[in-house]
Amino acid sequence: MRNYLNNIDRRLSRIIRTIAGEADRRGLPAYIVGGIVRDIILGRENLDLDIVVEGDAVALAKKVAQAQGAVVRVYPEFGTATVQWPSGVRVDFASTRRESYPYPGALPRVAPSAGTLRDDLFRRDFTINAMAVCINRGDFGRLVDEFGGLPDLRGGTIRVLHDRSFVDDPTRILRAARFEQRLHFRIEAATLRLLKKALRTKAVDNVKPPRYFAEFRKMLSEDNPAGQLGRLEDLGALGLMDPAWALDIRLLEQVCKRWQRLPVKLALEYRRSRWLIFFMASAEAIGGRQLPRILGKFPLKKEEKESILQVPGTRPLLRQLAVPGLSRSEVYRILKPLTAGMAVYLRLRADHVGVAERVDRYLTRDAGLRPDIDGEDLKRMGVKPGKEIGAILSGILYQKIDGELKGRRSQLAAAGAMVPGREGKTDGPHQTGQ
Ligand code: ATP
Repeated sequence: MRNYLNNIDRRLSRIIRTIAGEADRRGLPAYIVGGIVRDIILGRENLDLDIVVEGDAVALAKKVAQAQGAVVRVYPEFGTATVQWPSGVRVDFASTRRESYPYPGALPRVAPSAGTLRDDLFRRDFTINAMAVCINRGDFGRLVDEFGGLPDLRGGTIRVLHDRSFVDDPTRILRAARFEQRLHFRIEAATLRLLKKALRTKAVDNVKPPRYFAEFRKMLSEDNPAGQLGRLEDLGALGLMDPAWALDIRLLEQVCKRWQRLPVKLALEYRRSRWLIFFMASAEAIGGRQLPRILGKFPLKKEEKESILQVPGTRPLLRQLAVPGLSRSEVYRILKPLTAGMAVYLRLRADHVGVAERVDRYLTRDAGLRPDIDGEDLKRMGVKPGKEIGAILSGILYQKIDGELKGRRSQLAAAGAMVPGREGKTDGPHQTGQ
């Protein structure tokens, strides 16, 4: 018997042995299941471990976490628990489940009676994601492959487990495209026919938009978002996001390519927004009139929404940023009202090196500059609290950005000159500090 858990990541291996020991002590059949099995066989890094047990998964998780000093979170409504290790390994514990769908596209209903391992594997999306590896003593490392996942993995095939799969859960349409593109696999012919047939049923309208959004976001987080969305368009499945969804694939490809060449500092700083930037690129083809309605359906944070709603202004903003002879403070004034995400987006949409450099300078330096004086300094000069303080401080900041007022002393003097009736007066000790 081949041991599929030989030669796996050492962090995973140690944790699997701990869980296995505890499961053996309790006499619980326990398995690693799902995507992690696929990735172990493919040799791809994955530190998210899914464990299913035929028995009480929550009690097992609590015991393992306690013995290891790891953090456990229990989800009583699902009968599951997650344990997080400091090494980055995350383990989800669940009892074997059998699911049914009250109506097509609905969230599955979990059967009250625990299912068998086979039931648990049968509710999964594709054969390559429906394998398990046993971790109990005597059986450690044995592959359980009831649905032909291994040959499909070897043959590069995405295949559903049964004919109703896409109708039961249409989010699997996006998942099929995602795994196909990520792994350079092919959706098998009968599966493809079922996928296209499901797209013509009412089931696709029964899915709550946030579920489509979650899968769409995962597609944008993959290595090649343009390939991902391009495939979705080929399949005629872009409309799952919204019937008005449109895509300019060339534009998305260009933004993806330019992201690869972004200065390391910027790429690192904005890596969490990477998916959002690609979302913005895919939203640019939709047009400002439809966007607010579409975005209203999805769980986006306020700033994310704001970034996307700024996208229709891309072309005029790029024209403004290309005007010859702009000072740095003029660039600052164009970009400051925008979100940081939009500034990065403009950087990636800029065709002229000069515009890209202007945005880079803003993002890496100018956006973070502040005047070296504050409102208190101005009040001491007799400026009344109100709009004037803000205006003077902005004026000082613009000059600082342009390299004209380097320190506090020169900024105090410049501020003094801006206060009506104070031109030329000095301000004692406050004026000398840097
Ligand atoms: P990734 O590597 O992107 O995390 P994954 O396969 O681990 O991929 P998850 O979304 O974390 O994907 O899901 C874990 C497992 O749960 C899958 O491998 C699959 O077995 C099952 N699963 C997830 N979503 C569905 C779904 N919509 N329908 C059926 N099974 C699913």
